[in-house]
Amino acid sequence: MFTKINAVISDAAKSVAKTAISALNKTVHILNVLGTKTVKFFKVNIVNTLTSSKRFAVVVGGIGVAACVVLAMLFANFNTIAVSVITNGQIVGYVSDSSELDDIMSSVANSLTSDEDLTKVDDIKFGLAVVSKSVVENGADLAISVLEAQDDFSSAAGLYVNGEFVVSASDQKVITNALENLKNKYVTADTKSVSFLEEVAIKTVYYTDETAPSDDVATTLISNGTKVGLNVQTTSLVSSTKTIEYDVVTKHDSNRVVGYNRISVLGKDGSAEVKELVTSVNGSEVETVVVDEKVVETPINQIIVKGTSTNGMSTVQKTLTSKGISFLWPIAVTSDMYISSTWGDGRGHHGIDITGDYGTPIYASYEGTVAYAGWSGEYGYLIVINHKGGYQTAYAHMSSIYVKAGQTVKTGEVIAGCGSTGVATGDHVHFEVRIGGTRVNPAPYLGLGY
Ligand SMILES: [Zn+2]
Repeated sequence: MFTKINAVISDAAKSVAKTAISALNKTVHILNVLGTKTVKFFKVNIVNTLTSSKRFAVVVGGIGVAACVVLAMLFANFNTIAVSVITNGQIVGYVSDSSELDDIMSSVANSLTSDEDLTKVDDIKFGLAVVSKSVVENGADLAISVLEAQDDFSSAAGLYVNGEFVVSASDQKVITNALENLKNKYVTADTKSVSFLEEVAIKTVYYTDETAPSDDVATTLISNGTKVGLNVQTTSLVSSTKTIEYDVVTKHDSNRVVGYNRISVLGKDGSAEVKELVTSVNGSEVETVVVDEKVVETPINQIIVKGTSTNGMSTVQKTLTSKGISFLWPIAVTSDMYISSTWGDGRGHHGIDITGDYGTPIYASYEGTVAYAGWSGEYGYLIVINHKGGYQTAYAHMSSIYVKAGQTVKTGEVIAGCGSTGVATGDHVHFEVRIGGTRVNPAPYLGLGY
């Protein structure tokens, strides 16, 4: 019974002792890292085989070690071995170990108005101390304490943009006023919000007599905005009247022949009251979002009627020649087309002029081979087609040509678009019929009486 308990306690004692050794080794490690003190290394052996007479002593010893470790752990809960940071003969704080030096120095440098002043900061030295865990800080947090301990440094207000020191002034108000003035440069009656694009902070900074801040310099520099890396973003709610453009709708009419192309309803633009949220940077617009749109006047769509019937074309086909040629009108017959110039016409006109809208299809009057397709002086764009029996037809003033010389075409094939190139007044097709190269009056071939 006694032996059993003894064994159990003995195991507990071993476990506690191992923890104690581990703690001791850690302490030795820290001290070795610091290199300031030499500590004896305690080697503790746990003997498994003990004589019966010594068991009681081991048990009591085990309890004693356990009590010490519990006390040490309670102590360790609130206190710790730390490194004291010393400058200009003063302890200014505590850090966990001396590797924090880099963080301390970069933090000190970031709190100075001039990099050159860094050489005037007294050297940082380290000591050892047992302190309450709550006073141990990160190196980065120690800059102000280090600088406050210096003899030659005074404090001022520093402007930081995106974490970088920019300029210092005697008082925080000098900087906040200059920042407000910079923002107000871009504020109008419509402005809803104004802010800096960058992260702006005002922190305590330190300077020596040679690097004392100038409020005038700070004010001038900040008023420049972009010179100190500051960009002012504003959002404004702007109301305006916007034009709503009308659409063009094409309607097909089977009662009108192909080529009929007229506006039946004239389009009219509408209008809307628009509210836009405008985002600007330094007064220049970067984004506009429509937040509200109210239609004041609805637009009227333009309606174009296009004919689809081919009936009009066939009704004027005549078989008039002895060679059995049946000529087709070169342009679709519509209700509002007219002959604007007849054969002769008191001026030696060698063809017949038929009006048509710009771009209206021009058809090959009869099948044949294209003899010419291209520019020809007063004719403008001209097409001449050779037909059987020595006949030719010619089409002038075209806006565009769809065939090439040498190409064969069928009767009614679209060969060009109507226009007024060359010497012409208004869009029309000048149509000629030639027999053996001589121009003749085309009227009879189109079923016209003149
Ligand atoms: Zn003509």
